[in-house]
Amino acid sequence: MKSLTILGATGSIGVSTLDVVALHPGRYRVVALTGNSRVDILADQCARFQPAYAVVGTGEAAARLRAQIEKSSPTTEILHGPEALAQVASLPEVDAVMAAIVGAAGLPSALAAARAGKQVLLANKEALVTAGAVFMAEVARSGAILLPIDSEHNAVFQSLPRGYAGDMGSVGVRRVLLTASGGPFRNRAVAELEHVTPDQACAHPNWSMGRKISVDSATMMNKGLEVIEAHWLFNAPADRIEVVIHPQSVIHSMVDYLDGSVIAQLGNPDMRTPIAYALGWPERIESGVAPLDLCRFGRLDFEAPDLDRFPCLGLAYRALRQGGNAPAVLNAANEVAVAAFLDQRLRFTRIASVIADALDRVPSTAIRDLADVLAADEAGRRAATAAIARLAA
Ligand code: NAD
Ligand code: MG
Repeated sequence: MKSLTILGATGSIGVSTLDVVALHPGRYRVVALTGNSRVDILADQCARFQPAYAVVGTGEAAARLRAQIEKSSPTTEILHGPEALAQVASLPEVDAVMAAIVGAAGLPSALAAARAGKQVLLANKEALVTAGAVFMAEVARSGAILLPIDSEHNAVFQSLPRGYAGDMGSVGVRRVLLTASGGPFRNRAVAELEHVTPDQACAHPNWSMGRKISVDSATMMNKGLEVIEAHWLFNAPADRIEVVIHPQSVIHSMVDYLDGSVIAQLGNPDMRTPIAYALGWPERIESGVAPLDLCRFGRLDFEAPDLDRFPCLGLAYRALRQGGNAPAVLNAANEVAVAAFLDQRLRFTRIASVIADALDRVPSTAIRDLADVLAADEAGRRAATAAIARLAA
């Protein structure tokens, strides 16, 4: 039996992970589940999976959870706060950790799992965007196995030679081609984008996801973050990572080899596929996803991304090329801007200007350790908050 900690169990990825786990009785043991504030969902999950630990955000949420699971899961120990997340990510009895907390808040616990040498099933792309060098150094030092959950990176992982060790040249890889759906505003007149609402931005045509990543998909910052994520995961320089818009989201990404071969991974757009791939790795297991019916799609389309429509994608490339603290500043400013947009305090089209402003104003520094990352995150948040205040004035 493989023992699991699921960080962010109450979110979109967490729920899908437990769906796959439930298909395989006797194969996985759920040791710890975490959720920030949605105590009802976590209580149901505890009743179903009887974890040894459940972690919530605050003492108040812990008291509510205790009251709810007293009878249904009496042996579950309830913890709260960020240290408890890192603790359940590094328990000696845990083999694999699903890191599915959203945003930079997921970094310390994902890093703890890497440090402890776990199989890290990494959904939290922000960990690599903000702290790629630190994170990958910990993975190398501890011997942790890093399995990407993000569908694009999972597809690239599957399309690279088994055992790929980060040297594109030695295995004849020319480029990594990340596909992007283009989100809900791919064809919307640019002039109309100024007035789109949070609900319109979150109505993704192909994927059902949390609200933050849904807005990121609408701005294409999600793809920008994924370019940076791919850089760290596969040791690929910026100019060897290309983005292709593919509205059907059937091809999840591709690897282009020197001889002209392009290897792709295809499937229905359903996160249970990459989740099952990582849970079962190196074996293949049932995911609950319907077989791909290519004739139903009829055609697969491709186009180049329009950087005027999607300036966030260009900003992410800029941050990756700049290096140092720039990706962490970009990510933090994006989190602040997206939260303001979801709160209806910032227009959709201003998300990119806030991030550009933060990148312009925060001085470049090197990243050597987690403290440097947290400082960059803090500086990015401060700069973005100030930029939003100036726009409101
Ligand atoms: P979500 O908003 O649905 O869920 C987020 C989870 O994180 C919840 O369990 C929530 O309780 C927890 N959380 C939020 N803030 C927290 C905090 N401060 N401390 C502790 N826990 C906190 O998000 P999601 O869509 O499941 O995405 C999770 C991660 O996976 C993100 O990094 C996202 O980019 C990545 N991802 C998601 C998808 C997808 O299809 N949903 C696809 C690829 C990558
Ligand atoms: Mg993705």
